Amino acid sequence: MIEGQEHRRTYSLSALLNAGQYRISVKREAGGKVSGFLHDHLKVGDQVELFPPAGEFVLHGGTKPLVLISGGVGITPTLAMLEAALPSGRPIHFIHCARNSAAHGFRAWVDGLAAQHPQLKRFYCYDDVDGLLSQERLDAWLPAERDLDAYFLGPKGFMKAVSGHLKALGVPQDQAHHEFFGPAAALE
Ligand SMILES: Cc1cc2nc3c(=O)[nH]c(=O)nc-3n(C[C@H](O)[C@H](O)[C@H](O)COP(=O)(O)OP(=O)(O)OC[C@H]3O[C@@H](n4cnc5c(N)ncnc54)[C@H](O)[C@@H]3O)c2cc1C
Repeated sequence: MIEGQEHRRTYSLSALLNAGQYRISVKREAGGKVSGFLHDHLKVGDQVELFPPAGEFVLHGGTKPLVLISGGVGITPTLAMLEAALPSGRPIHFIHCARNSAAHGFRAWVDGLAAQHPQLKRFYCYDDVDGLLSQERLDAWLPAERDLDAYFLGPKGFMKAVSGHLKALGVPQDQAHHEFFGPAAALE
């Protein structure tokens, strides 16, 4: 409840369940009711009413190379997926796009994991230095084996582009999974 009114929003789990604790990571939206409240007013010890975790954008097990591609705050579920997949030993390519290095969250954490786990390769694309993620760049950053599992999430334009690139680069469509941070829409 914010000022006596109920507001419902959805947030991805951005880490594995840890000692009975779930984590979400919230980007402050300019003028955003709930994200603004969470950043400015919610304090440790306050109570919020939650629904149990739900959704279909979940990591499927397997041994194929795993590619996680995110844009902006779309990084949140890929962090939990990365954490969940590491013990399997499968090759993981973690690709993140951000407006610039200052807007890049969780970099130190991902870099730290990459330093400890040789199976993890990470690639970053900053709009202000590299431009938007191109098909050529993605081609170079994907594993050579295109029989892979991909998960991608970001702003709608980003998702359209990534969906098209993956298709053109030979990734089977039923192995390219995505979710929307807003109303679902067609990517074709
Ligand atoms: C499956 C899913 C997972 C998600 N996971 C995450 C996550 O992990 N992390 C995360 O940060 N977000 C996530 N989101 C987005 C999140 O649910 C919220 O949409 C986001 O936090 C914005 O909510 P808000 O209440 O702050 O903004 P809102 O108050 O809903 O406003 C949204 C935007 O609309 C603008 N706006 C509002 N009212 C008006 C108006 N009258 N006129 C013009 N503009 C207006 C605001 O300025 C703001 O920019 C997820 C969404 C989905 C669907």
